[in-house]
Amino acid sequence: MIPFTDLRAQYKTIKKEIDSAIADVLNRSDFILGKDLEIFEKNLAKYCESKFAVGMNSGTDALFFSLRAIGIKPGDEVITSTFSFIAAAEVILLLGAKPVFVDIEPDTYNINARLIERAITKKTKAIIPVHLYGQPAEMDLIMKIARKHKLFVIEDAAQAIGATYKGKKICSIGDIGCLSFFPAKNLGCYGDGGAIVTNNKQIAKKIKMLINHGSQVRYRHELLGDSSRLDNLQASILNIKLKYIDKWNNKRISIAKEYTSLLKKSIVAPTNKHYAKTVYQQYTIRVKQREKLKSFLFKNGIPTSVHYPTPIHLQPVFKKMKIYKKGDFPIAEKASNEVLSLPIYPELPKHIISKIARLIIQFNEK
Ligand SMILES: *Cc1c(COP(=O)(O)O)cnc(C)c1O
Repeated sequence: MIPFTDLRAQYKTIKKEIDSAIADVLNRSDFILGKDLEIFEKNLAKYCESKFAVGMNSGTDALFFSLRAIGIKPGDEVITSTFSFIAAAEVILLLGAKPVFVDIEPDTYNINARLIERAITKKTKAIIPVHLYGQPAEMDLIMKIARKHKLFVIEDAAQAIGATYKGKKICSIGDIGCLSFFPAKNLGCYGDGGAIVTNNKQIAKKIKMLINHGSQVRYRHELLGDSSRLDNLQASILNIKLKYIDKWNNKRISIAKEYTSLLKKSIVAPTNKHYAKTVYQQYTIRVKQREKLKSFLFKNGIPTSVHYPTPIHLQPVFKKMKIYKKGDFPIAEKASNEVLSLPIYPELPKHIISKIARLIIQFNEK
């Protein structure tokens, strides 16, 4: 059995640098709000073509504190995609606001920007597009709608660091961009981690305070805050890994190209819009007999994954609220029955890619 993602293979390629960075932190013992965090925030902002970056505990917290920073409160509505990881919808609810879902485009799996306007009400405050699988959402249209209706745009870029939309880095297009450094993401640390990036000084300052007990000066608490800092050990690791992100993303892109050239006659391959540089957090194909193909590949030593088997509006936690029902978002519901993610990571050997493609072609001919 090959691994679905191989974090150890990546560690081996940068072991010396990582080990020495970790040892440095241990020797300095500046674990919280240390030197590496400061450097990482500068480097990350620059990489994302944004003025400010603030590291925090996780991508989920990045979304949560973004919503808090723009003042989302009970009764507000926030528009997002139903076909994603649950984090964005979850934090909207945690603040007492209502997630208003919109169906997806069948080819990119991203929020269908053409359906956003009809979901806007007087209570709508923000839109959270998700750049799913590393493919940018239709940002020009989303920004146009948001500006017209005076809504904030928070990009969930947890799966898409380094992706570009019309040449611009995603993350820097909306008001705030949210990143996750969960180990298996394109830029992953060795634990939980996340960050926001923004060009808005006030927002950056407020989030920086919120994640540190509402304070700028020790033991003076101006806002009702929380504890969600990115620890310095993780920041030191991320500082090393950030140097390699373009190389790793380009590797993912070439693996995706290889898969597509071998498989395009057998499956529905991911689309790549002319306006996008997609960074393939996942290489997700679409097939009718998903469960059968999944177990066939598994029997042949190839693990796969389903992102995501249930659209958010049909998750048990949402079902109980009786806001949405089956059939409300047919494109997302259909996708959730047909998508299958194949192994993709920069160190994936070429012969494995060929083997996976051969198996899928063989399955189709059965
Ligand atoms: C991973 C992920 C998150 C959450 O990130 P964590 O760091 O795990 O909290 C949010 N949104 C999407 C789309 C993700 O893939």
